[in-house]
Amino acid sequence: MLREPVSSIVDPDAGGMSGRTGRYEKRLSDLVGLYENAEAYEALLGSEGDLLVYDVEDFRPGEHTGDINYGVTRMSPGRVGREFYLTRGHIHAKADRPEIYFGQRGYGLMHLESPAGETRIVEIKPQTICYVPPFWIHRSVNVGDEDLVMVFAYPSDSGQDYGIIEASNGMRHRIVADNSGGWELVDNTAYKPRTDQQVAALMKQYA
Ligand code: ZN
Repeated sequence: MLREPVSSIVDPDAGGMSGRTGRYEKRLSDLVGLYENAEAYEALLGSEGDLLVYDVEDFRPGEHTGDINYGVTRMSPGRVGREFYLTRGHIHAKADRPEIYFGQRGYGLMHLESPAGETRIVEIKPQTICYVPPFWIHRSVNVGDEDLVMVFAYPSDSGQDYGIIEASNGMRHRIVADNSGGWELVDNTAYKPRTDQQVAALMKQYA
């Protein structure tokens, strides 16, 4: 089927775009269990209510192999205890599918973890393009004091597997405020590494 071209105008201030086919948002209550400090999470929910943490507007032409989805994600600044706001995070259900993020506003991190548990951090500022290679678990973190807005694009048939992070009790590292207004990595003490067999199964699936 021959599709018509589409254009979208990105609004870095509002954190959205025209020409979208969908929109979704995640509030604090959607992110239960993700944060290190359950007490701080409950306290924030109690005092501030069910805050909007991030929202996504996207254009999805379908799920055809070789096609592409794109959109804009906007994340509020904030912390739960010492831990910065983060997205749920995932690996692509077809794990060999990559993704691109393109910074528009604010200051954030792409937090990546390989199946074997190696961590990589990519800083994202306006005009930064971040390449998320195939097979990497990825999540965004807003470590700045304003909205983090990024454009993203990924193959339409990628799919998202959110369970992989849950199964290991989170990612190996957490991103928290340090003592000088910046951020640092700390170990996630509950982290359960994937077995060699699990890693091999992931890597082999689409090799
Ligand atoms: Zn992705």
